[in-house]
Amino acid sequence: MEKQGHRCRQVVLVPIPLQGHITPMLQLGTILHSRGFSITVAHAQFNSPHASNHPEFTFLSLSDGSSSTPKASDDFIDFMSNINLNCRAPLQEALTQMIAKQEDLPCVIHDGIMHCAEAVARYLKLPSIILYTLNPTNLLTYYAYPRLLEQDSKLLELVPGLDSLRFKDLPVSNFGNLSALLPFKAIIRDIGSSSAIILNTNECLEQSSIVQFQEQYPVPIFSIGPMHLAAPASSCSLLKEDTSCIEWLDKQTQHSVIYLSFGSIALTSEKELAEMAWGLANSKQPFLWVLRPGSADGLDPTDLLPHSFKETVEKRGCIVNWAPQRQVLAHSAVGGFWTHCGWNSILESISEGVPMICRSAFGDQRVNARYVCHVWNVGFEFENDLERGEIERVITRLMVEKEGEEMRKRALDLKVKVELCSRKGGSSYNLLNELVDHIMSV
Ligand code: UDP
Repeated sequence: MEKQGHRCRQVVLVPIPLQGHITPMLQLGTILHSRGFSITVAHAQFNSPHASNHPEFTFLSLSDGSSSTPKASDDFIDFMSNINLNCRAPLQEALTQMIAKQEDLPCVIHDGIMHCAEAVARYLKLPSIILYTLNPTNLLTYYAYPRLLEQDSKLLELVPGLDSLRFKDLPVSNFGNLSALLPFKAIIRDIGSSSAIILNTNECLEQSSIVQFQEQYPVPIFSIGPMHLAAPASSCSLLKEDTSCIEWLDKQTQHSVIYLSFGSIALTSEKELAEMAWGLANSKQPFLWVLRPGSADGLDPTDLLPHSFKETVEKRGCIVNWAPQRQVLAHSAVGGFWTHCGWNSILESISEGVPMICRSAFGDQRVNARYVCHVWNVGFEFENDLERGEIERVITRLMVEKEGEEMRKRALDLKVKVELCSRKGGSSYNLLNELVDHIMSV
C-alpha cells in the first residue's frame, strides 16, 4: 500500500448509529467538506442517515445484523459491542474496495465508541482519528471509577478534580454493575494507532477537563465545538421534522414558550406523562412539547395523555413527534428548554442563550445536568420524582420569576462567550484550522 507523498484530501467517517452520535459526525463532515475534503460516510444499516439530505457526501452502507435502540446504560454496552462486532468485516471490505479504486488513501475518522474502525484502519495501514461525541468531563469520569468502588457510602461527596460533580452524578452509580463498564473504560483509555482526538466542546465550557483529558493522551486534542456553529444547518434527523411548530411559535410572544424535548432515546412512563401534563397546564405557560412515538414504554405518548389535557393543548400548546430543534431553540418565542441533557441538546441550547430545566435520565446526562446547573449556572436541576406541583413551580421560576430572568441573562452571556470561541481568532476556530492541517499531513 505505497500511495504516499501526497496531502490527504479524503475522509471516511464512521459514526455509531444513534441520533446523538450521527449528528455531530455529519456536522464534522459538513465542516471538512467546506474545507475541500471529499467525504464518505460508512454507516450501519440500522438508523441509516438520510443520504438525500447530504448530496455532497458518498454513503457506504454496512450490514450490521439486526439492532435496536438501547433503552438504558446496560443495553448500551451490549449495543456497542454488537455494532462493533458486526460492522468490522463489512467496513474492512468496503474500505479495501475503496482504496483499490483510487489514488488517494483516506483518513478514517470514527466515533470513539466505534473502535472496530480503528482496528480496520490499522490493518489497512490507513491513518485514523477519533471523534468523541461525549464531552471530556464525561470521559474523565471513567478514570474516577476505581475511586468509586472504594467510596460506595459517599455518594454526595465531590469527585476529586472534576468541578462540582458528586459521585452520584457519574454515568453509573450502580455499584453492582461496574464490571459491565470495563470494556467501555478500556476503549476510552486505549486509542490504538489514532493520531489525534476531536472533541465537540470548547475552552470556554470545559477548559479544566480539556487540560486533564490532554494529560491522559500523547496525541493532539482538537476541541472545535460546538460543531453545529461551523456547519451550515442541513438536517441530520433520522425522524421527519414537523416544521408546523415554527408557524405556531411565530404566533407566540417573546420568551413566553417552554420547549420540552427528551432526545432520541429517553423513555417516559404513563404516570410521568400525566404529571408533566398537569404541571404544564397549571403553570399557565405556552408550551411546545416533543412526544416521540414509542417513547412511553414503547407506546405512542400522545395516546396516554390525560383526556382533559386536550383542552389545554388547544388553548396554548403545540405537540409534535419530532421538531426541527435547532430552529426551535433559535426562535425568539422560546424562553426555556426542559431537556433530558443529551450533549447535543445542551450545546444547541447554550448556543442560542436559552436557559434550561434539567431532568437527566442516565449515562452522560447526569454529568451534563450538573454542569448546566452548578458550573455554568444556566439551568434548574430537577432531581426528584416528577410531581405536578414541583413541575409547575420550576416552570414558573424559570419563565416568570426574577430568578429565571437572571438565569436568561447568564445564558445570553455564555452564548456570547461560546460564539467568540467559534469566530475568527477564537480557540475552536484556530483548532479547526490546525485539525485541517493535521488531516492533510497524516
Ligand atoms: N432533536 C431534534 N428534534 C427533536 C428532538 C431532538 O432534531 O424533536 C435533535 C437534537 O437537536 C439533537 C439530537 O436530536 O441534536 C439529540 O441528541 P442529544 O445528544 O441531545 O440526545 P440523545 O438523543 O443522544 O439522547
